[in-house]
Amino acid sequence: MSFPIFILSFFKRIQIGNNKVLHDYSMFNICVDLYRTQFQNRWKHNQSSTKYIQPINSSSMKAPITTLIFDVDDTLYDVGTGFTAHRNTEGAQSFMVQCLNFPTMEMAKTIRDEYFVQYHSTAKALQEAEKDGRFPECAKRISPLLSSSSSSSSSKEKENENENGALFQAQDLAEWWASRLNFDLLGGKDEALIEMFQNCPLTLVAFSNGPRKYVKRVLVELGVAEFFPEERLFAVDDVLPYCKPEKEAFDKILTILKVRPEECVMVEDSMKNIRAAKALGMKTILVAGRTPTDNSMEAMKQSEATKAGDAPERNDPAVDVSVEICSDIPTQWPDLW
Ligand SMILES: [Mg+2]
Repeated sequence: MSFPIFILSFFKRIQIGNNKVLHDYSMFNICVDLYRTQFQNRWKHNQSSTKYIQPINSSSMKAPITTLIFDVDDTLYDVGTGFTAHRNTEGAQSFMVQCLNFPTMEMAKTIRDEYFVQYHSTAKALQEAEKDGRFPECAKRISPLLSSSSSSSSSKEKENENENGALFQAQDLAEWWASRLNFDLLGGKDEALIEMFQNCPLTLVAFSNGPRKYVKRVLVELGVAEFFPEERLFAVDDVLPYCKPEKEAFDKILTILKVRPEECVMVEDSMKNIRAAKALGMKTILVAGRTPTDNSMEAMKQSEATKAGDAPERNDPAVDVSVEICSDIPTQWPDLW
């Protein structure tokens, strides 16, 4: 049925059935919505069940894609590794106790989780919690560079070293995570990911809400650091006081990279960040995570519990293409390169 005939027939049926005249403008919008739904359902029905490619607006495809921007955590490695659960629980809480003098892991968890839900970045969460006066009275800065079981407490304390007097400093978290987390959970070099990057002719960029030194360690552990040189590696330190999904954070890196959003594809596990990237005009790839096995189910649940409200939604209109793991991109979107 053609679009005009569909509108007219539906309009007439409603008028006769209800024996009253509806407002022309409202009816037009209803018909357009129904027709769009019909089209999308028919499009999805034609797709293979193993592919999760969403319809992409043809006008948005006119700009040539030049740049792939990759999130790092739960994007370059699978959420089922348990590394994110480890970082967001013991990793974050031990930092708050050992380096910010929170009295208990439980108090650290409460504050961190409350703010992480809003910002999807532990660094930004701690920055905002401190601004809001949510740090305990006993809080103080203890540099992780000096913090060790053999150091005396007085020699460990380096309070208020930065210009604004804040106790939390992103580089402290970076140092703590880069040196204290269990990177063995990542499983070593990812050969499929390395091969994908080796064969990609597009500009590769990493953009993480994690602190820089930590992000670099993850890239090294996965064997992909060479693909993201300093000038194309962005961490939360580079965009604070903003972070993804805030527009200002995206604007800053796009300005440095000298690219328009229409030229970029954002590869992400976070729906907040996917939606923000789409709103800016980027194409998007959602990394939804492997279908969990018995072994990975618990780790995935723990990881997702630490980032409530941001679970992958493959059918979200902001998602152009969805994959289980990052190295599936060439098969799920073969025309990308
Ligand atoms: Mg992520």
